[in-house]
Amino acid sequence: MKILLTGGAGYIGSHTIIELDKAGHSVVVVDNLVNSNPESLRRVAKIIGKEIPFYEVDVRDKEALSKVFDENKFDAVIHFAGLKAVGESVAKPLEYYHNNMTGTFVLLDVMRQNQCKNIIFSSSATVYGDPAIIPITEDCPKGHCTNPYGQTKSMLEEVLMDVQKADPEWNVVLLRYFNPIGAHKSGMIGENPNGIPNNLMPYITQTAVGIRKELGIFGNDYDTPDGTGVRDYIHVCDLASGHVAALKAINNKCGLAIYNLGTGHGYSVLDVVNAFMKVNGVNVPYVIKPRRPGDIATCYCNPAKAKAELDWEAKYGIDEMCRDSWNWQKNNPNGYGK
Ligand code: NAD
Ligand code: UDP
Repeated sequence: MKILLTGGAGYIGSHTIIELDKAGHSVVVVDNLVNSNPESLRRVAKIIGKEIPFYEVDVRDKEALSKVFDENKFDAVIHFAGLKAVGESVAKPLEYYHNNMTGTFVLLDVMRQNQCKNIIFSSSATVYGDPAIIPITEDCPKGHCTNPYGQTKSMLEEVLMDVQKADPEWNVVLLRYFNPIGAHKSGMIGENPNGIPNNLMPYITQTAVGIRKELGIFGNDYDTPDGTGVRDYIHVCDLASGHVAALKAINNKCGLAIYNLGTGHGYSVLDVVNAFMKVNGVNVPYVIKPRRPGDIATCYCNPAKAKAELDWEAKYGIDEMCRDSWNWQKNNPNGYGK
């Protein structure tokens, strides 16, 4: 299939290109580079041994996006493009709503005009809020999102469901990602956060490499086995292959389909820090800090639906995630050099 990846120069998108290519699909990338560097695409091209057609376009720019569709006939779109920093979304709600919501509205409109009605959308476990069921199944009710970023994901899910309901020719796959970490085993591509990382793993790797003095662990008084927050970390290459699997749902004319992409295992912050130090033989100094506002104690999924319907499951465990995150960081202490 010929697939358009919006936001394809980013962390998850760049890894997904490799898996799509492996599965025989062809890929075109649209990205405005607001949170990425074209070097990621140059490196992916080296890994897969072919150039990746790339348009530096903002998905909100209808004219420019229409031109991309004029020049290509796409079978499906994987829509990664969006702003994703939770804290920043609280400080800049309008920018987040405008980018994520308007960007998706424009994309859907252009897709419709071009008779391309197959979309895979990057959603998030954040839509479950403080989950009513652990492990979380897809029929767990959605919860309250405490920040504009989470609101955009939750609202866009509703928008996509309405679009599919109104026109059953659409096939919409909502992928609810848990916590992607790790990097391609080559160490050539990985997560490249701007400024101080918000997420746990990039903070750990930047501490291990000496960019940060110590990791702050946000709370050790949660109702979890060791008191620190528990999450479902998933290797980004497994997450990437989940998108290839999701194309099966599109091919089977799924209408609307929702899948959790996680491993089904919950690891605490201390589990991750200890695994990272052990696997890589490096020290990660840490201090316990107060809880981070908006955080929940425990979040991990039941990934059985994706296994049953898409024949997809995560292959990599926490040790490989820690090894590959470190391999990327130590070979690229400044990321792509931005
Ligand atoms: P990322 O920031 O690395 O990639 C997103 C890409 O989208 C970037 O390259 C950015 O430049 C681009 N982009 C943003 N706004 C755009 C616009 N208006 N037009 C064109 N391009 C635009 O993030 P990621 O971690 O690869 O995440 C990909 C998607 O998955 C996002 O939608 C994110 O919200 C979602 N998601 C990520 C996580 C995570 O932990 N990384 C978890 C759940 C969901
Ligand atoms: N966390 C932490 N220190 C950090 C970043 C995160 O202790 O510098 C904790 C956070 O409180 C949560 C877990 O690590 O329990 C995962 O946080 P992340 O921001 O990576 O993902 P999310 O909160 O979105 O699941």
